[in-house]
Amino acid sequence: MPHLLNIWPSVSARLRDAQRVLLLSDFDGTLTPIVDRPELAVLAPGVRQTLVELTGHRKFILGVVSGRSLHDLEDKVGIPGIIYAANHGLEISGPGLEFVHPEADEMRGIQTEVFEILKRELGHLLGVVLENKGLTLSVHYRLAPDASVARIQERFAATVSPLVAEGQLKTSEGKKVLEVRPNVDWDKGKAIAHIQGQHPQAKLTVFFGDDLTDEDGFAVVQESGGLDVFVGPARAPTKALYRLDSPGEVARALALMAGL
Ligand SMILES: [Mg+2]
Repeated sequence: MPHLLNIWPSVSARLRDAQRVLLLSDFDGTLTPIVDRPELAVLAPGVRQTLVELTGHRKFILGVVSGRSLHDLEDKVGIPGIIYAANHGLEISGPGLEFVHPEADEMRGIQTEVFEILKRELGHLLGVVLENKGLTLSVHYRLAPDASVARIQERFAATVSPLVAEGQLKTSEGKKVLEVRPNVDWDKGKAIAHIQGQHPQAKLTVFFGDDLTDEDGFAVVQESGGLDVFVGPARAPTKALYRLDSPGEVARALALMAGL
């Protein structure tokens, strides 16, 4: 799998040739290093500056695609005029683009009930951080002792499996996070396709991501002939065609794009 910076001449030629480019990125682990508690993630001022420059560049249409809630994501990124696809794309907000997945929207009440159940069952466990993101729920366990991870996963599964069996909810997993999502046919890939549909003038899409939920995005971007870039170690399993080592290298690639 080629390292994006090693083949930069061909990448920059493709970017130069495209009149408009849809430039999308995940947030945690991609634009910022993963931190112990999600609320501690900070977009480095240099990266924010580069994103602001790219927003002003007439070639690029910028967006961030994340599992965070819309309010949280807008707050963390803090750049006006870009597309925010939050809650794994269930809610999207940007210039001329407002979308909330209708079925997921109807399930906020159920999610709140499940959140209360999860709080009761898991809230007291050491190192567990619960997050109600409105349309989805997260159980973060990065701070939990290694010895208790299996127990947290088991208790999560035992708590949500009867609810999942009813058919309205599903679960997913990311880096040290378990999630409850509405059981609707929607993911980061579908969200990216939706954004592409709103911006047909952008013939090239670039997408950076580091986690399991980004794989759906890689598939859609690849099908559209775009550049899908996995952020992580060389031999990690991913369907992405290109790779960068770290958020630091994503920042370098973005800076190179801003200089085009
Ligand atoms: Mg991520």
